[in-house]
Amino acid sequence: MQASPGSTSNQSNIIRAPNYRLGIERWIKHLYIFDSDHKTLCYNYTFKKQKNSMNYFVCFKCKHLNKSTVSARIVSNENGEEYVKLSENEHVCQRQKYKPPTIIYEPDFKLNTVEYGGKKDQRLHVFDSNDKTLYYIYTWISHTETYRCDSCVYNHDINVRAFLTNDESGNKCCVLNDQKHQCKPQKLKS
Ligand SMILES: [Zn+2]
Ligand SMILES: [Zn+2]
Repeated sequence: MQASPGSTSNQSNIIRAPNYRLGIERWIKHLYIFDSDHKTLCYNYTFKKQKNSMNYFVCFKCKHLNKSTVSARIVSNENGEEYVKLSENEHVCQRQKYKPPTIIYEPDFKLNTVEYGGKKDQRLHVFDSNDKTLYYIYTWISHTETYRCDSCVYNHDINVRAFLTNDESGNKCCVLNDQKHQCKPQKLKS
C-alpha cells in the first residue's frame, strides 16, 4: 500500500499524487499542481528539456511576470514511487482552471519495439476510439519526451502527440493532446 492519497508531506516543497497531474498542450508536456483544497485550480508548469535530466518543468507565467524561475521536477524514491519536488521560489502568478486531458488505457494503446538496421526504436500504436481495427503510429521524439504522429506532421502540418505515464491510482495510461488525426489510420491485419 502506498501512503494515503492526498497526504502532503511535512516538507512543503514535496507534492504527492493526486495533488499533481501530467497533461499535454499542443506538443509540450505540462505538469499541473493543485491546491489541496481546490482541485479545480492549478499552477501550470511547462516541460523544459534539460541535459541529463528528465521531467523538469517551469512556470512560464511567473517567468514572464517576474523573470524568476519557479520550477518543479518529478523524481522517484528508492521504491520507485514518484513525487514532485518544487523549487524554492514562490509563484507570483494566479492559479488557473484545470482542464483534464484525454487519457486512454490498454488495450486502446500499445507500445511496440521495432528494429531498424540493428537499432531498436519504440512505436506507440493508438487505436481509433470508434473502430478498434484501426490504429495510428506514433514515433518517439526525444527532445519533447513525447510520441508524435509523423504522418500528420509531414502531410497535414499538425501535431498529434501522446506520452505514457501513470494515473493517480498508479495505473499505466496514455495521455493524448486534443489535436485530431487528419492522416489515414492503419488497418489491423486479421
Ligand atoms: Zn507561477
Ligand atoms: Zn495522424
